[in-house]
Amino acid sequence: MIGIVSDPVFMDHDTGCYHPESSLRIQYIHTLFYQKNPGIKMIDPVIARVDDIALNHDMSYVRKIAGCCRTHDLVNLDMDTVCCEDSYNIALLAAGSLIRLTEMALNQEIDAGFAFVRPPGHHALKARAMGFCIFNNVAIAARNALKYQGIKRVMIVDFDVHHGNGTQDSFYNDKSVLYFSTHQYPFYPGTGGVSDTGRGKGLGYTVNCPLSAGKRDGHFIAVYRYILAPVVQAYEPELILVSAGFDAHAMDPIGGMDLSSKGFGAIAGIIRDAACHVSAPIIFALEGGYNLNALKDSVACVVDIMKGQASPEIQPVSGQELDTMIETHGRFWPLVRQ
Ligand SMILES: [Zn+2]
Repeated sequence: MIGIVSDPVFMDHDTGCYHPESSLRIQYIHTLFYQKNPGIKMIDPVIARVDDIALNHDMSYVRKIAGCCRTHDLVNLDMDTVCCEDSYNIALLAAGSLIRLTEMALNQEIDAGFAFVRPPGHHALKARAMGFCIFNNVAIAARNALKYQGIKRVMIVDFDVHHGNGTQDSFYNDKSVLYFSTHQYPFYPGTGGVSDTGRGKGLGYTVNCPLSAGKRDGHFIAVYRYILAPVVQAYEPELILVSAGFDAHAMDPIGGMDLSSKGFGAIAGIIRDAACHVSAPIIFALEGGYNLNALKDSVACVVDIMKGQASPEIQPVSGQELDTMIETHGRFWPLVRQ
């Protein structure tokens, strides 16, 4: 059974006219779940406690966001991150819903989950909103699971076209959360070089897989098959959280990659199969994805995979960038070299 949070309430985070991170994104995805869908359990959104948010963010920052949302006007938190009167509550609902799905998966009430929430989270730093993100939903859910759910190892997989600088920053010194990312590079926000592999006790537990623009399904499949799968096998996470952004789609107006909707399904298939080997539940959280039809199609492909459909056959494509990743990450994860 797949647990799905998809609720029109997430449309109430108003970013103004012409903002790519618009309410329509939720409206398009929500049409996939209008009808009763076998194998899917709809879960109501749940509001996070402020203490949960504070597991990953400075309390002064949480208060600042609450204050910004007390006005009736839209407030710019940074160049491209906007909040409205409802945004604070909606951001609490986004994080809380992801926490709820994570708890349900760890309690075996669902096999996997997908939280179709906004605002997205992976650029949000401990005390700073950026890149359309206010609170870092996956980081908060990871910290909650480590503190309250009795697990010791969480893996975060991020296939958004942008590097999740906020998530990396939260766990850069920490081996209890392994951060794995494929992203366009160089690109916004500028972080995520292959040699950024963590620090101190976290050295080796940040696995960045940067790809230059224009990469197709096969290039991504090679990275997921030859790097993600062996890292999952070696790290043995007890929970996998996925920052599921769909802005690497060929049709996306922001990203410069060439992935197909089927390609996202194939990526999800590799994550699913790797997770199955170590018995880790997977919870997806929506991040980017700004072409509405491409977003909806890609989400449908990923949900089908999580319901057990066979993965699409896509031939992996190797290259110099993959060789550099294998060389770099193979130093910490010998299985990657085999
Ligand atoms: Zn993105």
